Amino acid sequence: MTDLPLFIDVSLGVTINARHARGRAARLGPTLDRILANHGYPPVLETLLAEALVLTALLGSLLKDPGGQLTIQAQTERGAVDLMVCDYKGGELRGYIRHDPERLAELGPHPTLFALFGKGYLAITFDQPATDERYQGIVPLEGEGLAQAAQSYFSQSEQIPSIVRLAVRKDDDGWVAGGLMFQHLPEGEEGRERLHTRLDHPEWPHVAVLAGSVKPEELTDRTLGLDELMWRLFHEEEEVRTLPPVALSKGCRCSPDYIASVIARFPPEEQAGMVGDDGVIRVDCAFCATSFPIALEKVAPAP
Ligand SMILES: [Zn+2]
Repeated sequence: MTDLPLFIDVSLGVTINARHARGRAARLGPTLDRILANHGYPPVLETLLAEALVLTALLGSLLKDPGGQLTIQAQTERGAVDLMVCDYKGGELRGYIRHDPERLAELGPHPTLFALFGKGYLAITFDQPATDERYQGIVPLEGEGLAQAAQSYFSQSEQIPSIVRLAVRKDDDGWVAGGLMFQHLPEGEEGRERLHTRLDHPEWPHVAVLAGSVKPEELTDRTLGLDELMWRLFHEEEEVRTLPPVALSKGCRCSPDYIASVIARFPPEEQAGMVGDDGVIRVDCAFCATSFPIALEKVAPAP
């Protein structure tokens, strides 16, 4: 075990082998404040992105490959929100939302997921370069919220009975978002082909009831360690094993050097066309809402 504190900006996995179940809890605080601060979204979108980011943390920490990436993308054609993207790589999280401010304002302070997205879809993509695995599942964005959409993704696309709970709140100390996910893996070992999945197996409803009893205020309680939370829910089980915790932080892969290398691939006349009135090329990163001024002389000539 590491000494990583298990209260905030961390994810913790457990296995309950006797029940063929695995679970994960994640909680975000200062990391969330940092990501949201850059965007300046209205509160309703901050809540939505906070919920999406903690879901991303839960799903991302399922990746076996340390270089793996998990992306969730919610999109719609005619919603007030037309695109939301979050991703996870090595414990680093980022995300953004594209929306129509006027239409969003018309929806009031507590719009439903349907009001925000209209007829939308949630795509979840697991990318594991080490084993060259990439798979994507898409589910309709309907029902109560993102937790339910994620649950139907696992039960429909993956045939894995799952329960997902998410909670978000903001207080004087900032944002806090917590999530819990449990899954039934009847064949035991992960990665092995499942010959069949019995959705009616009695061991699973038991786990689902216990996991589902978690309260939103427990998920978002900064003083309740994730190990204590698991203990509170599953203390009657003979054995609950914890996996090494994963620290979560804000991270983005954009960098002035990388952007300059992308610009360098364009022919000189196109590069000249990108230069703005202030004499530099401005490139925006939607994820971290940062604008990078790139001076043309800093761009290596195209080969
Ligand atoms: Zn960025």
